[in-house]
Amino acid sequence: MTPQPLVVQCPSCGSSDITYTCEPKCCFNHICATCYTTFELFTEPLGQVLTNIEKSPQERDSLAPTVACARCDSLEIYMVEPGGGAPSTLVCAECQGLLRLGFAAVESR
Ligand SMILES: [Zn+2]
Ligand SMILES: [Zn+2]
Repeated sequence: MTPQPLVVQCPSCGSSDITYTCEPKCCFNHICATCYTTFELFTEPLGQVLTNIEKSPQERDSLAPTVACARCDSLEIYMVEPGGGAPSTLVCAECQGLLRLGFAAVESR
């Protein structure tokens, strides 16, 4: 199973044109380029781990959607497709924990 880069959909309009506007040592505030809704991302542990993930060699783009692992604070968060039509899940490449993405402080303009 190959982890994919994190793709986030705007909680307001569903666009995936999302920019990370801050830095991890401050907050996880993002903005939607389509409707200018701002929101913060967080993760919640699902209580499961995925053991066979491959680390992805790509460089991080500092404007790409970014979120920290709720278990270990790593920023190495990727998406995995569980298949069978289940919604995609996040996985931390550091601690291999499965995570659910959450939105906080959603403010639409
Ligand atoms: Zn939007
Ligand atoms: Zn982790």
